[in-house]
Amino acid sequence: MKPNADEVPPRGRPRWLRPTYYFSRVRDLSPQWLQSQGLAGLLVDLDSTLKPYRQATVAPETAAWIRSLQAAGIRLCIVSNGGGKRVAVTAEELGVPFLARAWKPFPWRCRQGVRLLDVDPSAVAMVGDQLFADIWAGYWAGIRTILIVPLAPEQEPFATRWKRGLERWFLRRLGVIPGAGAEQSPHAPSPEARHD
Ligand SMILES: [Mg+2]
Repeated sequence: MKPNADEVPPRGRPRWLRPTYYFSRVRDLSPQWLQSQGLAGLLVDLDSTLKPYRQATVAPETAAWIRSLQAAGIRLCIVSNGGGKRVAVTAEELGVPFLARAWKPFPWRCRQGVRLLDVDPSAVAMVGDQLFADIWAGYWAGIRTILIVPLAPEQEPFATRWKRGLERWFLRRLGVIPGAGAEQSPHAPSPEARHD
């Protein structure tokens, strides 16, 4: 029941940067797998998670994944650090509620999102591509976290790309991706997916 992913083992510090799960892409999070983990709601990041940063629309496969979750009764809310108007266009297209200008890693919008979903916090996870935004915010908000390999990281703004190097350092330290001197991690999401 864990297609293309594994639960990141509870080791490695800092805990506030350690994702509960690590997946290649959002659409691998099937309704069956989410339900098997006791997850009934997801807060989902937008840029580099649902769509590449410079792309205005979500790929048809990703839109289909959203519909499959909605059909299964999984509650969704987009929580993005992006500006309201831009986030609203995508969210409305997908028929998903959204919270923009989230200021992740601060936890306020995640907490607001959990209330909006009306699901017990223990059954909600924050899904996103950035350790220092999505994973930290989810941890701070007291919910589980799912790290996704970023879509088209080359399109990201300079500040984000700069942080990717630091993220890789932490991901190796946390045992999420294999690193120099470390054993091959059994927890890499798939051979073709790389966090770079
Ligand atoms: Mg993102």
